[in-house]
Amino acid sequence: MANIVAIVGRPNVGKSTLFNRLTGTRRAIVMNTAGTTRDRQYGKCEWCGKEFSVIDTGGWVVNSDDTFESEINRQVDLAIRESDVVLLVVDVNEGVTQFDTEVAHLLRQAKKPTVLAVNKVDTFEQQYGAADFYKLGLGEPFILSAENGLGSGDLLDEIVSRFRKDDTDEEIDDLPRFAIVGRPNAGKSSILNALIGEDRAIVTDIPGTTRDSIYTRYNKFGKDFYLVDTAGIRKKAKVTEDMEYYSVVRSIRAIENSDVCILMIDATRGIEAQDLNIYSLVQKNKKGLVVCVNKWDLVESKTTADIKGYENAIRERLAPFTDFPIIFCSALTKQRIFKVMETALHVYENKQRKVPTAQLNDKFLPLIENYPPPANKGKYIKIKYCTQLPNTQVPTFIFFANLPQYVKEPYRRFLENKLRQWWDFNGTPVQLFIRAK
Ligand code: GDP
Ligand code: GDP
Repeated sequence: MANIVAIVGRPNVGKSTLFNRLTGTRRAIVMNTAGTTRDRQYGKCEWCGKEFSVIDTGGWVVNSDDTFESEINRQVDLAIRESDVVLLVVDVNEGVTQFDTEVAHLLRQAKKPTVLAVNKVDTFEQQYGAADFYKLGLGEPFILSAENGLGSGDLLDEIVSRFRKDDTDEEIDDLPRFAIVGRPNAGKSSILNALIGEDRAIVTDIPGTTRDSIYTRYNKFGKDFYLVDTAGIRKKAKVTEDMEYYSVVRSIRAIENSDVCILMIDATRGIEAQDLNIYSLVQKNKKGLVVCVNKWDLVESKTTADIKGYENAIRERLAPFTDFPIIFCSALTKQRIFKVMETALHVYENKQRKVPTAQLNDKFLPLIENYPPPANKGKYIKIKYCTQLPNTQVPTFIFFANLPQYVKEPYRRFLENKLRQWWDFNGTPVQLFIRAK
């Protein structure tokens, strides 16, 4: 399963500088939501061949009536529930503050794997100041300069060593795993209840090893699959769940641990900024997609033209990826809710699809012969052969060419469109690379 690291700490200790160092800004997703003082970020980091996600969770809510304490509680609580390892960042120049002490206390209480980074140790002399942080009771403080990189290798070694070991991994089996995601009030709990309450189809809850179980096994239409619980869907937490930002962070784990995401959209609101945030998480993690337009019962005019218009508007917002199914449903009246699950299963099959090499070449070689890549700088480009790679997360195709660097994006897209036309890859990302033969 995917590992997630949450960065927590006071403002200005260097969390976002560290985030950038770990992930490279280029690859980050910025979750800009109202109510927080600055944008939250999500990105991927790779260290020693292990990829994991990093969330910078330390947002501060403006105009909040809450006390400082409940604010800390909320943030740390989120980090504890939604991550595998918490990275607490403190500032060597400030020494141990009240905030640090309180956060450390909460983390110790939760027995959460925690790594303590003492930041802004830019010079060797400053490292002696780090010893003071032992008293937080979180083990050895790791000295760090997020700005110049000093200490980041040791810090990463420590983070990676705290992940669950592969042999105890909660890898269950190879049944499809679906996540129902979407903004608050889109109807996620309603559809889950409509599906699961329908009959006693739940086979079992998989007991979590180091954290709460997030999979529910489900049996329908003679098919077996798991629904990945977005924390807070089934058991609604009381406070502040309306905060959009928190609901995005909640979605991350469910998305990462799924094969296909069912993105619930509220028909009465259409696609809004937060839907796009969640969608970009789905894309970044290369998951299958079913868009589910819920509360269809509330939409009055449902002519074919209206439906077409609605569909087009959604595809436009999610472009350039447009080859995904859209289902109009109602969790309330149960209209088409099983169709949603059927479609998710279908997308899962598409994501597993293997096209035999002979079939690929039979189709593509004549096409390429008739429509070759445009010559570039007087050079003719020949694509000789193509094949699908085995054992990839998403269907991945390689086209072998004499001069791969001259094959441009529009031509690559042309090939992808043909691929999607000839075989059913509806709802799944595919990768298509041109390589030297
Ligand atoms: P955040 O609010 O915790 O995300 O903190 P930022 O990453 O925005 O950093 C706050 C300030 O501290 C910025 O001016 C950074 O340039 C500075 N800073 C971050 N890391 C270091 C460091 O390792 N050494 C020094 N000297 N300054 C740093
Ligand atoms: P969640 O926050 O995404 O889990 O959303 P909920 O399932 O809690 O639904 C939010 C509100 O929308 C509740 O009042 C539901 O009764 C209502 N709702 C959910 N699905 C539908 C639907 O298909 N039609 C209508 N009319 N209301 C719905």
